[in-house]
Amino acid sequence: MSATAVRSAQEYEDAYRAYYAEASDEERKVRVGEKETSEQAAIVARYADLFTRDQLAALRGAETAATDVDEAERLYRLGRSCEEGIVDAELAAREDELANALLAARLTFEGEEMPLRTAEAQLAVLPEYAKREELGELARVLDSSFNDGRRELLAARDGLQAELSGERDTVARNEAQKQISLRQLESALRQASDTVAPAYDSLRERWFERLLGPERTEVPLSAHVRWLRRLSPLEATYPRERSVEVCVETVRALGFDLESIPNIRLDLEDRPQKSPRACVIPVDPPEIVYLITRAQGGISDYQAFLHEAGHALHYAGCDPGLPWTFRAISRDHALTEIYSYIVEAVSREPGWHALHFGLSDAEAEENAEATLFLEALVYRRYAAKLRFELGFWDAFPSEHGASSRDYDPLLTDATGLHYDGRAYLSDMDAGFYSADYLRAWIRSAQLSSHLRREVGEDWWRSSGTGEILRGLFAEGTRPSTEEVARRIGFEPLDTGPLVAELTARPG
Ligand SMILES: [Zn+2]
Repeated sequence: MSATAVRSAQEYEDAYRAYYAEASDEERKVRVGEKETSEQAAIVARYADLFTRDQLAALRGAETAATDVDEAERLYRLGRSCEEGIVDAELAAREDELANALLAARLTFEGEEMPLRTAEAQLAVLPEYAKREELGELARVLDSSFNDGRRELLAARDGLQAELSGERDTVARNEAQKQISLRQLESALRQASDTVAPAYDSLRERWFERLLGPERTEVPLSAHVRWLRRLSPLEATYPRERSVEVCVETVRALGFDLESIPNIRLDLEDRPQKSPRACVIPVDPPEIVYLITRAQGGISDYQAFLHEAGHALHYAGCDPGLPWTFRAISRDHALTEIYSYIVEAVSREPGWHALHFGLSDAEAEENAEATLFLEALVYRRYAAKLRFELGFWDAFPSEHGASSRDYDPLLTDATGLHYDGRAYLSDMDAGFYSADYLRAWIRSAQLSSHLRREVGEDWWRSSGTGEILRGLFAEGTRPSTEEVARRIGFEPLDTGPLVAELTARPG
């Protein structure tokens, strides 16, 4: 094929699908430690003719001409994939450079030299409060020394996206992609966050005392978050060795036998180079979906496995008759995160803790309350993050991202942990991912309220839940999360169920 040739929509989808399968399998091999170096650049180079401005214009033209809604949507998503590919190809070398510099960065803690990533992993398991603060500060200083590079890349990506999409305003561009108003979303989330504040304050008081101990300072550093999220002082109850068995059983109760769904390939092995972050890689959904975890001990293992199981069941459960685009590509991540959240939500049920961990009802309720505390903490942090990001991008044309603005006060007020302003860039995911997570928060709470109504209080261990989820999974990535809201009888911005969940004290 010559450099100027342009593919038809169907040819493009077929070719892009082949690229997507190869690129995601490469990502998987590096992530799970089967390969030590990534050859992603070589794959992109091999498929370079997919990512040209001529091809983008052809897909856009076809989208405009399409009369069928589904066809226009499919072409829109293929066009966006093409656009992202052009941006990625132009920035790949600089992004690799930053990523490699981060991998090579070392700090010295207690006479030991360690990579930044190791330091961050250490923060989850270091038992001494003061040492976590000390290591957290060292990591913060080293990490923020890369802020100039991050800011330049952010500006370059934004500039390219503005040029290719024709929309200079970053917020407006993301609103068009997500088909929502980010400001209305933020305002609904802020209200919910304010409403749950008194409940959060009392949970925080109780669980900071239990998890951080009496030596803690008035406002502990955010360096303790990984320690908190493992519920480290309770780790004996949630051992590493049991996480797979318990989670497989948990999902089986919902009517999904993970181990006998051949499309879901479980990679649970412990390899030295395997990333500790759990993930799902849908190489070719619904046929080939990888679920990858590496247990480290603590409740977070169980929550991460259940979260990823939700993604895996979604991708492996989509109707194979859908066009490939509606099995693999979405406008954003707000839909699939509903399904990860709802499966993870099982771990906040007191009955689940009693059933699997030999706890008394009182202990089970107490531990479920700890998971509720974590949920409220992370929710309030994300709501604050979205508010910060909206201001950041509004000011971007004049400030060019040079100021951390209100990052520190907003996130610190929301959580009760000190979020240092220097983290404002490393804490930012591209494309307002924070808004996708937050939409999933609202929606999964609506879905759980729907399941309680339809299936009953036992929804978390009933195959009736599986039946309802199966119907949603079958639709693949086609619907928006707002369409799912209407289907289960809620307004998209109705935060009532979320507020009810976050203010319910078990017991
Ligand atoms: Zn997820």
